[in-house]
Amino acid sequence: MTSKALLTITLIIILTTAATAQTYEENLAKGAATTEQNFLNAPFVKPKNWKTPYTGPTYWPIFENRGPIDRSPADKPSKVLVMGSGDPTPNPYRYGPALAVIVNGYPYFIDCGEGWWRAMGKSVQSQGAVDLASVFALQNLKYMFLTHLHEDHTVGLPSFISSPYKFGPGAEKKIYGPAGVDVMIANLNAAWRIDRNEMMQGSTMQKADGATAIGVPVWPLTDPKGRKIFEDDNVSVEAFPTEHGFLQHTYAYRFTTKPDGRILAFGGDGHYSEGLANAARNADVLFIESITRKNIKFAPWGGDTEEEKVKIIGAYHMFPKDMRKLQKNSGVKQIVMIHVQNYNDPEHFDRLGVRDEMRAEGVENILLAEDGDLY
Ligand SMILES: [Zn+2]
Ligand SMILES: [Zn+2]
Repeated sequence: MTSKALLTITLIIILTTAATAQTYEENLAKGAATTEQNFLNAPFVKPKNWKTPYTGPTYWPIFENRGPIDRSPADKPSKVLVMGSGDPTPNPYRYGPALAVIVNGYPYFIDCGEGWWRAMGKSVQSQGAVDLASVFALQNLKYMFLTHLHEDHTVGLPSFISSPYKFGPGAEKKIYGPAGVDVMIANLNAAWRIDRNEMMQGSTMQKADGATAIGVPVWPLTDPKGRKIFEDDNVSVEAFPTEHGFLQHTYAYRFTTKPDGRILAFGGDGHYSEGLANAARNADVLFIESITRKNIKFAPWGGDTEEEKVKIIGAYHMFPKDMRKLQKNSGVKQIVMIHVQNYNDPEHFDRLGVRDEMRAEGVENILLAEDGDLY
C-alpha cells in the first residue's frame, strides 16, 4: 500500500468517526443519557423532562450515593448491617427497609423490605469487616422482627421465607411482629404452596414436614414501658408500642447485645411517642425513619395544601422537631437515618438535605445510612 492510499484510509476513518461521535448533550437530547452513564458508571443525572408514572418529576430524586462505610466501633464485635435504607419510592440504589443485628456471627433481622434477598447478597460483597458470607449461612436465616405490617416493610417476606429454600436445608423461620403477622405468614406459606410442593418432590434438599415459617404475634403490647419478647445467648429483645398513622399496632425494638453490651434501637416508622423514647433510652444507636419538613410541599400524598400535608404526614412520620424531642427525651447517643423521605425541590436536589434539616433543628450526632453500611 502506498503512503498516499494509507493517508486516504486514515482520513476516511477520522471523518467517519467525527460524523458519528456525539457530545453528551447530543446523546441526552436523544434520550441516550442512561446508556452513556452505564458505560461511564457516573452518578445518575435526571434527564430533561424525566417522568415516571408512579411518582412524578417534581420529587424524583437524583440518585447520587456514596459507597458503603464501616462506621461501627472497632472494639465492639456486635454490628448492625444496613441491608436496605430505602423508603417506598423505587430508588434503584436503596433496597427496602432491612437491617440485621449481628452477634457472635449470627444475624437477627429487622424489617423485610423490597429486595430483601438481593440486599443481603449485595451487602456480603460490600463489607469486609465481618465475614457476612458465613453470617448469612442458610441455617442462620431464622429470626425476623417486623416493626409493623405496612407493605414497604414486609414485601420482602416471600424472599426471606422461600428464596433460601432453593439452596438447601435451612431453619424454620420465626417472624415476630404486630397482631396479624401470624395470618400474614400463614397466607404467604399458602400462596407459595405450589412451588414448595414441587421442590419437595423434585429436590432432595427439602423435607415435607413443618411450615417454612411461622408468624409470632407480639400482642397485646400497649404499655409504653415495653416488654421483653425474645432472649437467647446473644441478645435480649424488648418491644415498645409506637405511633404511626392509623395502624393499631406498631413497634420499636430494643436489642441488648450480650457479649459487648451495646444497646441498639430500631424505631420503624412513626412520629414521636413515649414508647419510642423508651425504646431508645440511652441507646448507643437508634435506626429511625425521617422526613423533610422544609420540602413537605413536594410530597405526593397527604392532601393538597402544605398545611394539610403537615397535619396528615405528621401523623405518620418523623419531622425534625419530633426527632429533636426524641433525642432530648431518650438520651440516645447516635441517630442513623434510614427510610428518609426527601421530597426535595427537583431543581436543587440535595442528598443530605434531610440530615442537614435535622442538624439545623438541633439534632446532634445524626447520620444518613446507605445500603451496606455497618454501625
Ligand atoms: Zn409504615
Ligand atoms: Zn415505611
